[in-house]
Amino acid sequence: MGLFRILMFAGVALLALVIFKRVTGGIRGSRQDLEEDERLGRLVQDPECGVYVDSKEAVRRKAPDGELFFCSEKCAKAHFAQAQPGE
Ligand SMILES: [Zn+2]
Repeated sequence: MGLFRILMFAGVALLALVIFKRVTGGIRGSRQDLEEDERLGRLVQDPECGVYVDSKEAVRRKAPDGELFFCSEKCAKAHFAQAQPGE
C-alpha cells in the first residue's frame, strides 16, 4: 500500500510539474518574443515581391496610403513604376 501511495503522489506531482512548466514556459516564451520584436523591429511585407522583411532593415517609401516597406531598392522602384504605367 505504501508503494502505491508513493507512485500516486509521484504521478500527480509529475503532472503538476508538466502543467506548471507549460504555463510558465508559455508566458516566458511570449515575453521573449516581444523583446525580440522590439529589438529587431517588426516583420513587414514587401508589396512587390511578397517577401517579409524586418522594418528596421527595409527600404522605406512614402506612399499616398501610408508607408511601404520593400526588401530592396529594386523592388521599391519596380513597385512605383507599376503604379504609374503611363510614364
Ligand atoms: Zn522585394
